[in-house]
Amino acid sequence: MNRPILASISTEAFRHNLTRVRELAPESKIWSVIKARSYGHGFEAAFKGLEATDGFALLDIEDARWLRENGWKGRILLLEGLFHPAEVANAEDLACDLVVHCDSQIEWLENYQSQSHKRFSIFLKMNTGMNRLGFNPDKYRIAFHRLHALGHQMHHMTHFANADQVNQLPTVGQQLECFEATIADLTAPTSMANSAAILWHRTVLGDWVRPGIMLYGASPTGSYKDIEHANLQPVMRLQSEIIDIQELKKGDRVGYGGRYQAPESMRVGVIACGYADGYPRQAPDGTPVWVEGGAFDGAGVVCPLVGRVSMDMLTIDLRQAPQAKIGSRVELWGTQVPVDDVAQMSGTIGYELICALAPRVAVEIK
Ligand SMILES: *Cc1c(COP(=O)(O)O)cnc(C)c1O
Repeated sequence: MNRPILASISTEAFRHNLTRVRELAPESKIWSVIKARSYGHGFEAAFKGLEATDGFALLDIEDARWLRENGWKGRILLLEGLFHPAEVANAEDLACDLVVHCDSQIEWLENYQSQSHKRFSIFLKMNTGMNRLGFNPDKYRIAFHRLHALGHQMHHMTHFANADQVNQLPTVGQQLECFEATIADLTAPTSMANSAAILWHRTVLGDWVRPGIMLYGASPTGSYKDIEHANLQPVMRLQSEIIDIQELKKGDRVGYGGRYQAPESMRVGVIACGYADGYPRQAPDGTPVWVEGGAFDGAGVVCPLVGRVSMDMLTIDLRQAPQAKIGSRVELWGTQVPVDDVAQMSGTIGYELICALAPRVAVEIK
């Protein structure tokens, strides 16, 4: 028997969330963003669950190759474009759409001698205030004309820094104004919206939306309450089991550093999941862990984490779970405990936890 920790990935939840994106952006095509091994969920599950998408957006050309080899015939967008001129030919072979965000990438395309004279579909990225990737407005139109002159099929693209917040600068409104003023008479399809914009800025969806986190059922803000009513389903369920139980006396301490001290005699459950599995080591006492059949009615109960998370184990207070025993199943995050709740307790966002699911954790695709 292997260690009992398991990440269960629901293709059903993927399908549901994709449908939600369609409902929220009925006029737009969808780039399902599957960078970072599909936010830690693995390409295979995402490919199965999101096959009704219009395209997949990712970073590595080798991942594009994987999709093609597994039969994906739809579109693939390289979200940061090419990292090296030698990739142009591969991108052409794999029929990838390209983001172009800097002059070097334009030069690589200008210098490329295509054998087949195929043209790329290009998403030209404008920096409208986030100051990460993209052409500044004063350089954007020149870039557009250079690529257009090569015969490529052009799209306008930008990325919002604060679609998940109100009044934080630059605002969506400011970025949008810059974007629209710059593209003015250059007619081409647009792509702007990430998950936060799809959920909360429905007037700026553009022709292609780019949902990531909402497809995985987590919150763009990092706070679960913000998506509680958005009808999204968590795709990843990280589960494990209680592998031992300690009977503590009042005053006994638990784990490294003795961070937690028992206020009374109590049972502590030891769970096969630690920071080497991707659980945050910063998780404080009180971080929720769901235990199956733990309550008196057998329905399961949320128990607080106690003591420091170790590499391979963590410990929970079983006072609310008198029926819990060795072998009881627990959920670290998923349908009972939103990943954003665990993340928030640890000072991060759900994105980081799901992306950091460790390779050693077995994955089951359901
Ligand atoms: C990651 C990414 C997205 C998806 O963002 P979410 O917040 O996960 O929806 C969209 N567009 C670009 C350019 C990205 O890099």
